[in-house]
Formats: sequence, C-alpha cells, structure tokens
Amino acid sequence: MVDFATLKDDFPILSQQVNGKRLCYLDSAASSQKPQAVLEALQAAYGETYANVHRGLHYLSEASTDAYEAVRQKVAGLINAPSPNEVIFTSGATMSLNLIAQCWGSANLSSGDEILITIAEHHANIVPWQMIAERTGAKLVAAPMGADGEYDDEAFSALITERTKVISIPHVSNVLGTVFPLKNISKKARSVGALFVVDGCQGVVHMPVDVQEIDCDFYVFSGHKLYGPSGIGVCWGKHDILSDMPPFLGGGDMIDDVEIERSTYADVPARFEAGTPPIAECIGLGAAIDYVQSIGMAEIHAHEQNLIRYGMQRLSEVEGLNFIGTAAGKSGVISFTLDEVHPHDISTLIDHEGVAIRAGHHCAQPLMKSLGLSSTARASVGLYNSADDFDVLVNALHKVNRIFKS
Ligand code: PMP
Repeated sequence: MVDFATLKDDFPILSQQVNGKRLCYLDSAASSQKPQAVLEALQAAYGETYANVHRGLHYLSEASTDAYEAVRQKVAGLINAPSPNEVIFTSGATMSLNLIAQCWGSANLSSGDEILITIAEHHANIVPWQMIAERTGAKLVAAPMGADGEYDDEAFSALITERTKVISIPHVSNVLGTVFPLKNISKKARSVGALFVVDGCQGVVHMPVDVQEIDCDFYVFSGHKLYGPSGIGVCWGKHDILSDMPPFLGGGDMIDDVEIERSTYADVPARFEAGTPPIAECIGLGAAIDYVQSIGMAEIHAHEQNLIRYGMQRLSEVEGLNFIGTAAGKSGVISFTLDEVHPHDISTLIDHEGVAIRAGHHCAQPLMKSLGLSSTARASVGLYNSADDFDVLVNALHKVNRIFKS
C-alpha cells in the first residue's frame, strides 16, 4: 500500500513557504513538480554520462546513448506500445501534434476531407490541424460538448461521415476534466477508416494507458506534466503509419544517405528525431516514469479520483462558486468561477495564502467562447496533493468572498 501522505516529501520544491504560508500547489495540469529522483537523474545525465548521442564511439557517447535509448522502452512500457521503435521523442505534445498534422496530413489530406475534433481542445490540438487544413483544402470540424461538459456521443457521431479522415481528441479535457470514451471513439474512427489521434497530455499523468486496448493510431504527451523535465515529449504512433510518413524536420541523425542532390531517410524513429535531442531531459523523463510506476498508475488514479471528489464537495460550500465541467468520472482538474470576482483576482488573492492555481483561458479559447466565458479559475491535482490542499483552497476562497463583499 502506498502512503500518499508521505509522497510530498519526494518533491523538494513543495517544502517551501510562499508568502509566509505552506505552499499549496494545485496547478499540476499546467506543469507538475519534479521528484528528487528526476532531479538526481538530470544531475547524473550531465555530471556522469553526458555526451552527444548516436554519434560517438567513445565511452561517454555510448553511455549517454544507452541511457537515452533505454527511455524509449520505459515509455513503451508505460503506454503498452508494441515496440519501443514506435516511440518518437519530441519537445512536447505541441510538437507531437504538429508533427502528425504536418507529416501525415500533407501526405494524406486533400480538398473536401474533414478533420474532426471537439470544441474542448487545447490550442495544440486545433491550430496544427488548421494549418494543414489551409494547405490541403481539408476542413476542420469541431463537435460540441454536452451541457455539463460531458462528451456528447450523439453530437459527435453526427459529424462522422465518409469525409472524416482524422479524429483527434483529448484523453482528458484540460479545462472540464471530462474523460473521453476512447475505445468507443476508436470504433467510430475505424468504421470510416479515419486516423485516430489522442492528445494524452492530461490522461497519461492520471491513469493507466494502454494504446493497444484503446486502438488509437497516435498517443502524444509532454514529459513536464508527468513529473519529468520540460523540453521532452512523446509522439507514439503505429509503426506502419509512421513508416509511410515523410519526415518533419531535416538534419543530422534522421538520414540514411545524403548527397547534394537528394537524401534518403533513416527508419522510424530516427527519421523523426533530427538534430541533437534533449538528452538529459529524456533521461529525466525515464526517471519520472520509473517513479510513477513505482507507485502504480492505478493507485495514482484512485488517489486522485478521491481528491477530485473531495475537492468538488468542499468547493461546493463556497458561496457564489460555479463549477465549469461536472461530467461523471471527471479527472485531474476542477474549473470554476466565482460570482463577482474575476478569475485573475481569485488567483492573485489566494496566492497570498500560498495557494497556486491557474486562471485564464487555459489555451482553450473556442471552449471558453462556447461557454460565454473569457476565463476560469482551475485547481488541478497531482499525486502529491492531499485533501488538506483543498481545505486550504476553500478557506482562501471564503476569504476572497469576504474581501469582495466588504
Ligand atoms: N493538450 C492538452 C490537453 C494540454 O493540457 C496541454 C498543456 N496544457 C497541451 C496539449 C500542450 O502541451 P505542451 O505545452 O506541453 O506542448
């Protein structure tokens, strides 16, 4: 049995005081904090094994390459990918989605084709598709969400036609917390032969993921939300699909043979990893995966679901608080507004109490517009949070209400 109450101690940054108060970090959906094991892996990657990867024949280069390549296997294990060679390292989910949209889209989309997303996407799953739609003449279509922020199967299904060539959706909405029924949506994608892409940024950090069970074609995420460093991310894709895709960036490491007139390209995954990669960051991600797996993703999921339930219950006591997104089984985030108080004011005022939350449009402007809002406040959890973090948040919000009423 994992004692979640002690896990906070693994994260040095969380022991500090902010504005004279115990730091209450409820902003992990934006980026999570890093355990000591990841800090030590970064230190070792630079202090003990650092050299460029894939290039040298000397001891350090081989040690660095081995440590870097070992992470591919760890990622494959985390998401149950059939092969580590299907794991492409990118700078983050944003780059992964741009890679898919540009490389798969340029080779497969044409005028009249449709790309189906939802209104609840992060901009990273909107703008890359818009860009390739503009180039190819394809059309971007967004399904609405249900009234409480739940997935609306009828509305979504109604937009799937023979023209649908791509379905790209989040595993979990970063604003609403809605968990999408991926297996169900995968079947719909298969029924029309559409590519099925999952933006797993807010999924893989909170629950076990099995890409074979989901039966998606791509699953992408960022290392920095999974307790790893920033600057490293993952684009997992099915081997056959990746093998048919043209490269994204050209340069060192992604080639087979180069002539001045033309080049041939390396096999997957090297084909999509041009240039010197974020070596230490990748090794840090490996340490983060070891860390979460030592706790267990199922255990993390159960702990965080309890927290979200507790948080919703406690927050409902706050006068004038409106939840944005109340889908059953929601995960990771609680978005809300307070009557009369702008979300930015909420965030600034509770920062005086040591509480860190996010306020803004959360890079989801179409969703905000559909809700008639410009921004929300958002509390989000990580494995290190506990019920008393929500007690502190609720007390701080009562104080905000008192300030605005006086
Ligand atoms: N998709 C979702 C659902 C997200 O929450 C985020 C980060 N907020 C992204 C994509 C983009 O991630 P990154 O900025 O790390 O590339």
